[in-house]
Amino acid sequence: MKIKVDFDLCESNALCEAMAPDVFELDDDDYLVVKTDETTPENEAEVRRAVAACPRAAISLEE
Ligand code: SF4
Repeated sequence: MKIKVDFDLCESNALCEAMAPDVFELDDDDYLVVKTDETTPENEAEVRRAVAACPRAAISLEE
C-alpha cells in the first residue's frame, strides 16, 4: 500500500517516528521525512500503528 502524509496537517510531534522509525523520521529542522512510500510485509504493522497514533490523522494508506 502507498503511504501518504498530508504535510498541511502534520505538526511534527514525532509520534509516527516512535511507532515506525524505519519509515518516519524528523529531520534536523523537525520536518517529517517519509523514508519509503510503500508498505512492506515487514513494516505494515508498525505503519498501521503510526497511522493510529497520529493525532492529526495526517497519515493514510492507499491501495
Ligand atoms: S504522528 Fe502525525 S502529526 Fe505527528 S509527525 Fe507523524 S504525521 Fe506528523
